[in-house]
Amino acid sequence: MSFLPQNILDLIDEFSSLPGIGPKSAARIVFFLQKAPNELSLDLAEKLKQAKISTKICQNCYNLSEAELCVICQNEGRNEDQILVVEDSLDLIAIEKTGIFRGLYHVLGGIISPMNGVGPDEIRIKELLKRLEQIAKKKEGVFTELIIATNPNMEGEATALYIQKEIENNRLLSKRVKVTRLARGLATGADIDYIDDLTIKKAIEGRAEM
Ligand SMILES: [Zn+2]
Repeated sequence: MSFLPQNILDLIDEFSSLPGIGPKSAARIVFFLQKAPNELSLDLAEKLKQAKISTKICQNCYNLSEAELCVICQNEGRNEDQILVVEDSLDLIAIEKTGIFRGLYHVLGGIISPMNGVGPDEIRIKELLKRLEQIAKKKEGVFTELIIATNPNMEGEATALYIQKEIENNRLLSKRVKVTRLARGLATGADIDYIDDLTIKKAIEGRAEM
């Protein structure tokens, strides 16, 4: 495609580096934007910029947020004694859509994956433990249920097991946190944000202690 202007080639390169977009789709998007009125590209650029600048990470659960605390953490009607652990905000949305879960979340921001060089310190496990310790100190005698909803694949399982072990080996938390995992009904290798609502509902209802 060297007969194309360099800035178009660069743009195609940028788009193909995004998840789920191959070189062909990237080229299609770039050509579409070239043909469309200028406003579309300018508007898109502005919205990307605004989303990047004004979106924060919730200080409590690490979900994407407009304020210090996300709308879920701000909602006083949510059950603080249940924390559901997800890989990213997309999984949170998938679970939230089912409406079955009324507790709070903890967004790990990734998954333990030695193959990709991601260790436990690269995701928010320390933050999770600290959060649980703070709850345990603040609310005496209250049990927190930690529902681990990482994806049902090797990395998701390894991450769930790691978190469970960390809690088991923590003197304060081992007595105060009950760790559960989504039911095994989820097909191995499935992605939570692609699973239908009913299956997620059943998996949450059928969760079992680890
Ligand atoms: Zn939050």
